[in-house]
Amino acid sequence: MQGTTAQFGSMVFSDSVMQERLPSAVYTALKNTMSRGERLEAGIADTVADVMKDWAIENGATHYTHWFQPMTGTTAEKHDSFLYVQNDGNVIMKFSGKALVQGESDASSFPSGGIRATFEARGYTIWDTTSFAFIKDGSLCIPTAFCAYTGESLDMKTPLLRSMEAVNLQALRILRLFGSEVNRVVTQVGAEQEYFLIDAEMFKRRPDLVYSGRTLFGAPPPKGQELDDHYFGSIKPRVSAFMKELDGELWKLGIYAHTKHNEVAPAQHELAPIYTTTNIATDQNQLTMEMMKIVARRHGLVCLLHEKPFAGINGSGKHNNWSISADNGVNLLKPGKTPHENAQFLLFLVAVIKAVDDYQDLLRVSAASAGNDHRLGGSEAPPAVVSVFLGDELTEILDAIEAGANYKGKKPINMEIGVTALPHFPKDTTDRNRTSPFAFTGNKFEFRMVGASFSISGANLVINMIVAESLRQFADELERASDFKGALAELIKKTYTQHKRIVFNGDNYSAEWVEEARSRGLSNLTTTIHALSKLLSDKKNVEVYERHKVLTRSEVESRYEIRMEGYAKTIHIEALTMLEIARGGILPSCVDYQNDLAKLLQRKQTLGRFDTSAEETLLRRIARLCGALVAKIDALEAALVNADALKHDVRGSALFYRDTVFAVMSELRGIADELETLTARKYWQLPSYGDLLYSVV
Ligand code: ADP
Ligand code: MG
Repeated sequence: MQGTTAQFGSMVFSDSVMQERLPSAVYTALKNTMSRGERLEAGIADTVADVMKDWAIENGATHYTHWFQPMTGTTAEKHDSFLYVQNDGNVIMKFSGKALVQGESDASSFPSGGIRATFEARGYTIWDTTSFAFIKDGSLCIPTAFCAYTGESLDMKTPLLRSMEAVNLQALRILRLFGSEVNRVVTQVGAEQEYFLIDAEMFKRRPDLVYSGRTLFGAPPPKGQELDDHYFGSIKPRVSAFMKELDGELWKLGIYAHTKHNEVAPAQHELAPIYTTTNIATDQNQLTMEMMKIVARRHGLVCLLHEKPFAGINGSGKHNNWSISADNGVNLLKPGKTPHENAQFLLFLVAVIKAVDDYQDLLRVSAASAGNDHRLGGSEAPPAVVSVFLGDELTEILDAIEAGANYKGKKPINMEIGVTALPHFPKDTTDRNRTSPFAFTGNKFEFRMVGASFSISGANLVINMIVAESLRQFADELERASDFKGALAELIKKTYTQHKRIVFNGDNYSAEWVEEARSRGLSNLTTTIHALSKLLSDKKNVEVYERHKVLTRSEVESRYEIRMEGYAKTIHIEALTMLEIARGGILPSCVDYQNDLAKLLQRKQTLGRFDTSAEETLLRRIARLCGALVAKIDALEAALVNADALKHDVRGSALFYRDTVFAVMSELRGIADELETLTARKYWQLPSYGDLLYSVV
């Protein structure tokens, strides 16, 4: 693509644009706010706003919006034009510092989980200076945090920013002990995004995809993913055209779209960006998902981001690659060249191992949703048991440290910490263990449980926070020690010994692992409800949120409520959609077909000379199944009435949807899918799995 570098970031009010356009004192003040969280003076905000507005107008914008991330998992925006009417009636384009820094919005229509009292519906959006403003569809979008009148967070961004602060604070304490003078530690993320593309005409004819994002009916197609011929296969021209345009759009928004390929399932693809600071990566992933949907439409396609759009073939997730680095660019998860650096590396490594072990449940919660329940544990994605993959070499090294023995690798070495230069690990580029939920891949950890439609904020704020907690405990201990080196060696050894039960390098899909994990005392929270329940029932969870000021107790409680309710609502919508399709589409199709079969049977019988066994058998089978279908429709309707009675009990209601409503839905689907295989195609109104998965050529 010509001019890619010129196009890159052209729609972003980036650091270089700021440097070029802002007066230098204003630029410096803004940078201080961005990097050190210093307060921005009103005069400075006015200047920034004015410069931003001119830049935006030059680039075709007429409106601005505070762009925020409520707890719906998507983004929200309300556009105001720059138009300003003066006293003389003339209009000018104006944008004040006040409008840049803070916006007021009605919070009553966003999920708040009981935080926002109904009499106080006001919510505020506050400029997040750590992420860059950008132009999208003629509007200057200002990334903002969203909170209630009371100051409590109502969004996905605020706790993420707070977790970035927590990890910075604790990691700096550790680095100081190693004599480092860096000023800031940040975490970085590259989120690989999986998605499906299907033909828009087919999509429109599937109310289940329209309303719920996944197919609620559909017999398996003759061919699924068993031939392994889609993964990395050559990309079809229509998909390729989509990918090219998507890359171009993302590049303009300063998003480092880097890798694209076909995924395992038919019609499934992946996009991976180059990693960046976690809060920016989060904004960028939200934008990526949005652009995927918009660009797909331009190509007569629809992009599905549901975790399990099709039964029987792989669903979609995100691989959240996470690392932690200092502002001098040193990745703290990269084994170093000197013994000193390696001791530091090992300390950060065991900090992560300890964090994952101590807070398995919080990680599991961060990946919990009704959609992702179909995927986790389905032998395509990590199981519900959280564990860490280290690879053989690193495990052997830590085992040697624990045993006080020499490492017996390729080049045997003495494992005394602080004296040892570790062997050079090859970066694990091949995803050697694709089954692990939390895999160390050379210089980063890859958390693979996150669902495709999720905001990555939820997972990363947990990873940041629990690692901050390990580092806090380490710093407390090491700061007290008189002999730093001795205490450090002891701490690494002790931490590994206490937490190595979380390390598992084998096949996470195997039944033996579930057993083994149980004997190690690891959690196995198989559904969203199991997982969410732990959020409040285990007191150390709320404590860690409070200690690191990531969420208050009431904020955690509100999130619990929103997500429990979200689970129930998701299944409720799916159930209603099934009823609509079964009654309005499937039954009438079957009735028409039976009618024609019956007429033919009657005619043949009148003529008296023909074999009628085919019509009779078919009619009998279809009639029997239709009877069963109607009975299940009634049962589902009755279950929904019972569910309604529980609506004031969030957990009880969610449990009822999982155990009762969902069970009837599965039975209804079973009958309908059998009917699909018996009914002539011309009567069946829904496009088949084959139509959905193979019609993009
Ligand atoms: P694979 O997982 O297929 O082996 P890579 O490891 O090269 O591929 O990269 C996958 C994703 O991880 C990309 O988004 C990449 O930018 C990101 N990534 C690479 N290094 C880091 C790092 N140090 N921190 C965070 N993310 C990283
Ligand atoms: Mg990867």
